[in-house]
Amino acid sequence: MPIDSFETDGVAARLHAKALVWDCHGCMPLRTDDTYLPQLLRYKKAGVSIIHINVGAANIGLEQQFRIASFMHWWLQRRPDKYALVEQVEDIPRAIDQGKLAVAFNIEGASAIGTQLSLVSSFYDLGVRWMSLAYNRANNVGGGCHGNDPGLSDFGRDLLDEMARVGMIACCSHTGYRTSMDAFEHNDTPVILSHSNARALTDHPRNIPDELIKACAKNGGVIGINGVGLFLGGNDRMVERLIHHVDHMVQLVGPEHVGLGLDFCFDGLDLDEILDEFADSFPDGHGYAPGIRFIEPERMPEITAGLVRLGYPENAILGILGENFYRIAKRVWKSPSTQAQRGPETKSWRERPIPTKHA
Ligand SMILES: [Zn+2]
Repeated sequence: MPIDSFETDGVAARLHAKALVWDCHGCMPLRTDDTYLPQLLRYKKAGVSIIHINVGAANIGLEQQFRIASFMHWWLQRRPDKYALVEQVEDIPRAIDQGKLAVAFNIEGASAIGTQLSLVSSFYDLGVRWMSLAYNRANNVGGGCHGNDPGLSDFGRDLLDEMARVGMIACCSHTGYRTSMDAFEHNDTPVILSHSNARALTDHPRNIPDELIKACAKNGGVIGINGVGLFLGGNDRMVERLIHHVDHMVQLVGPEHVGLGLDFCFDGLDLDEILDEFADSFPDGHGYAPGIRFIEPERMPEITAGLVRLGYPENAILGILGENFYRIAKRVWKSPSTQAQRGPETKSWRERPIPTKHA
């Protein structure tokens, strides 16, 4: 029988209340205004402990991404009673204790980095804690999930080394198959797929095949399931569909490699503008059209209830809800106090000749 929503009984409600809930991706409009930012509290009310929000995507230029990151950083820091812009993992349980929503940033696709590795630590210092390599289309780092995918470039290897040195998590959502495989192979630290669903269940190029899921898990990474109707396989029974995608991955690689990255988009009009302005990143024939639907943050308790319904043990559910991403962050993030000891410069970076105007 199809299920529209999972009833949150006492067991699920108690579990949700005590869980560290980590939503690895949400989309505020990519502008320097705060029309929608107060709606971050919707996550808090839904029991979410930490949310990563977008400060850049696709081919939005460096200046605009920097302005957005700076603006959101400034806005959040002026509201310390409600929000904690996290710098290190210990800030998350502290935020929970103090009744605040923990927030971190992310960037989708490294296009704005260009070939300037020093920007990684600049964005990290503004609060960016994960960045994906390519957004749908190829860039200096490698291929996207649409179009050609030449694999991870030499610059891409330098970028991954610099991200690991700085403490920024690398993500392969929106990235091409070959480039993702190269990244898993290259990295000693876990690479995540912050918001990607299973292609075996919904055949869309943005979704990932089983081999990629296995490679991510082998590298120690975590895959966040998103709540986008287009990638879940339909706009009806969305929570039930999400639970199926979770269960597919759990059966394949175990519960310790699965998480959540709902990808809720607060301003549908902003999304429609991005679909239009960066049309090349959203090729025809794949359902990229105005009116894409998302699972709202308010339905997070239903997701917990759906996981309980699957009969998973409590520790597996707590892992999927947030502790798996927490484990990755604990391993990869570096606190500001250790930034002075970030370690030696990335080797390949040091060896790469720096071009000069008059060379
Ligand atoms: Zn995305």
